[in-house]
Amino acid sequence: MTRSPQLPGTVYLVGAGPGDPDLLTLRAARLIMNARLIVHDGLVEPAILALARGGTRLISVAKRRSKHTMPQHDIDALLVREALAGNDVVRLKGGDPFVFGRGGEEAEACRAAGIPVEIVPGVSAALGAAAAAQIPLTHRAHSSIVSFVAGQCKGLTDQDWSGLAGQGRTLVIYMGVASADAIAEKLIADGLSPETPVAVIENATRAEMRVLRAPIAGLGALVAHERVRSPAVIVVGSVAAAPAHSLRELALEAAR
Ligand code: SAH
Repeated sequence: MTRSPQLPGTVYLVGAGPGDPDLLTLRAARLIMNARLIVHDGLVEPAILALARGGTRLISVAKRRSKHTMPQHDIDALLVREALAGNDVVRLKGGDPFVFGRGGEEAEACRAAGIPVEIVPGVSAALGAAAAAQIPLTHRAHSSIVSFVAGQCKGLTDQDWSGLAGQGRTLVIYMGVASADAIAEKLIADGLSPETPVAVIENATRAEMRVLRAPIAGLGALVAHERVRSPAVIVVGSVAAAPAHSLRELALEAAR
């Protein structure tokens, strides 16, 4: 909406969920459908952008093969510039804007410029992937603690993950595909049993989703052999083990 120049627009930091458009919140869907301007990153599915009506300005700040993502400072400046010009901005992000989404930085930049900000939560990849792969992140018999960590190569060795994985705990690693080998080594060096189950969920909730499993000691080999690509999350803990056959399935197998 274009308003008088002295009134800034609102910046909506909106979680688009892990991919499947059905996992948008109603608030997110309504904002997308009514948006004049959407600034989106690379994880947002075309099917979600297709909900915008014709004439909506779509600005991508995505990573392309040859190009880098727009630097964060430039994204902040773009949001501020548009809002100060009186435009409401729907800033669409994969998953949830406040889980490894730099939503905090964008909200700060807007508030510093006197721009109203609203945060619309989304289904974060850990939750979407767990649901799609039928892995309960907590389970009374397995795990009562869940942690989310970022597994990029940079600074991996400096991060203290001790105590986050192991008996009674579930660890979900975002952005860990490229450093899967180093992640497995780090966790085992911290005392995690090499047999600990791991599930890798690639493209969760999308048509091309894959769920792959291995003990943590085999994580690097699995990722390399199966050519796992981003986006994928890695779930570490006994909840990630292949689901036990239901009693009915076991009975049917025995009868064969
Ligand atoms: N804000 C996002 C996370 C952004 S960081 C959220 O809350 O989900 C990007 C990482 O998210 C990817 O490297 C991957 O680890 C994870 N991710 C995002 N979408 C995913 C999907 N559909 N399937 C598996 N992992 C996904």
